[in-house]
Amino acid sequence: MRKEDYTTIKMKKQKRIALVAHDNRKKDLINWVKENKDKLGEHFLCGTGTTATLIWEIVKLPVHAYKSGPLGGDQQIGARIAEGDIDFLVFFWDPLEAQPHDPDVKALLRIAVLYDIPVANNQSTADFLLTSPLMDEEYERKVISFSKRMNRIAGEFNKE
Ligand code: PGA
Repeated sequence: MRKEDYTTIKMKKQKRIALVAHDNRKKDLINWVKENKDKLGEHFLCGTGTTATLIWEIVKLPVHAYKSGPLGGDQQIGARIAEGDIDFLVFFWDPLEAQPHDPDVKALLRIAVLYDIPVANNQSTADFLLTSPLMDEEYERKVISFSKRMNRIAGEFNKE
């Protein structure tokens, strides 16, 4: 990828955070959300169906619920990242058990890297990210510009 193919997307002070946990990791994520309720309450939260519902029922934080992960929720969150509507991901995936929707999990993690959003896959990373001074600031993510890339590729055709 060439340097000039990149552009930036501004993250606001209020982050749009997606929360996802596989079944064996849900307890850990809910406890982490509980411990960080005040801080997380400053941001917009969403999550896959079961995770989001548990956060609302147990911690009483408002969380927009997408479909359950195995029913397409991971893909919905990936699509929102691609559209620029989610800019932060806390995803406690299970390192000890294969999931029926493993391809969706991989796709979500790929999209998160592609769109340069912070991703926490375990508690220590989530702690480090949430206590970063950048959580309270605007931040410019560096992403691939489709139009710049398209113009360059089209330009190469025109030379022929
Ligand atoms: P769930 O989905 O929150 O609906 O359980 C999580 C996942 O498996 O991706």
